Amino acid sequence: MPENHNGKCKTRRSPYRKKIDELILEGVSSTKIIKEFPELNLNRTNIHNHKNHITLLQNTNDRVNKTIDSLNALDNVIAQSYNNLGKLNTLSPPRAVEVWSNLFLRAIRLKHEITEFKSIEERLEDLLNKIRR
Ligand SMILES: [Zn+2]
Repeated sequence: MPENHNGKCKTRRSPYRKKIDELILEGVSSTKIIKEFPELNLNRTNIHNHKNHITLLQNTNDRVNKTIDSLNALDNVIAQSYNNLGKLNTLSPPRAVEVWSNLFLRAIRLKHEITEFKSIEERLEDLLNKIRR
């Protein structure tokens, strides 16, 4: 039965978690890691499982960071187009009104689509729970 990243993961519970994560990421062999922490009684399966946990966590972090980047970019577009709309007057070219209001509305809509139902924090929590389960 595959081991999940919950209480059963020996590496996750260990006080050497950070060190072991580093060694795994550096590509140090399982055998070496097992020898370095004899008190943990690790085996190759433990290390292999934890390697998968690290990959899962990294993918989750990447996804969350990309979403946060997108939201920040959209916030900038929204602020910029709102600012430009405020500068327009009756003498402004109709095309400018159209362009900035379309951009403004599209950015708001996209932002809503991304954050719909749940905040980023809640999404992150869901993803982490899936990993921990
Ligand atoms: Zn683990």
